[in-house]
Amino acid sequence: MRLAILTDIHANKEAFLAVLADVKERGVDQVVVLGDVVGYGPDPDWCVDRVVQLVKDGAICVKGNHDAAVTTPDPAMNPVAKAAIDWTAAQLSDDRKVFLSSLPLTNRMDDMLFVHASANDPGDWIYVTSENRAMGSFHTVTDRLVFCGHVHKPALYSCDIGNRVGGARIVPGSPVPLLKSRRWLAVVGAVGQPRDGIPQAAWALLDSDRNELTFRRVPYDIAATAARIRAAGLPDSLARRIMTGE
Ligand code: ZN
Repeated sequence: MRLAILTDIHANKEAFLAVLADVKERGVDQVVVLGDVVGYGPDPDWCVDRVVQLVKDGAICVKGNHDAAVTTPDPAMNPVAKAAIDWTAAQLSDDRKVFLSSLPLTNRMDDMLFVHASANDPGDWIYVTSENRAMGSFHTVTDRLVFCGHVHKPALYSCDIGNRVGGARIVPGSPVPLLKSRRWLAVVGAVGQPRDGIPQAAWALLDSDRNELTFRRVPYDIAATAARIRAAGLPDSLARRIMTGE
C-alpha cells in the first residue's frame, strides 16, 4: 500500500494544489492529513473544502492546534498566529468550523499512528524537535510507525528493541528503508509553511510493501501566495516566512 502523508497545509492553496498534483503523479492508495489545515494562509475556505472532499473519498485527517484554535482560543499561541486565527475564524462558515472542531486528535491504521504533534500527549501540542522529545512518543505507544507534523521541519527518528532512540538522515526524494527491527517516528514537513530553510512544499510517501519512506519537496508559486497573504491583510511576516521557508 502507498500512503501520502500531508500536514500543516495552513490555508496555502497553491502549495496544497502542487502537493496534490505530485501525490496524484506518484499514485497512492491512501491519503492522510496530520492537521493544521488552516491558520497563517489566505485560503482557509478552499483548503477546508478540499480536505472535506479528501475525507469523503476515504482520507484520514486528524486535528492540529490551529484547527482547534479556530473555535477554542489557545492562550499559548504567539501574537502573529493569534492574529491569523482571528482572521481565519472570521472567514470560515459554521459548517467548516464544525468539521475542524470534530476532527479526532489521533487515528490508527494497521501498525501506524497518526497525530498532529506528539503521541505521548496528543492534545498538548508538544514539538518533537529532538531525540529526547521523540523518546516520549516511543515510550508511550507501541505502534511501529508514528507520523507527526506540527514542527514544519522534516525529521526521522527510530527506536531499537533496547529503547535507544536515534535520528536518521533525510535526503528529499531518496527512499529511507524503515527496518523492521526498529520502530519509527517521522515528523513530516509542512505543505504550506516550511521552516527548514527550503521554501518548497513538503510531504511524505510511505510504501508499506517495500517498507520505505520518501520525504518529498514540491515547488509552487510562492510569490502568488505571499501576495495573497498581504492582500488579505494578514501579518506581513507570514508572507516573508513562506518566501524564505524559515
Ligand atoms: Zn502547523
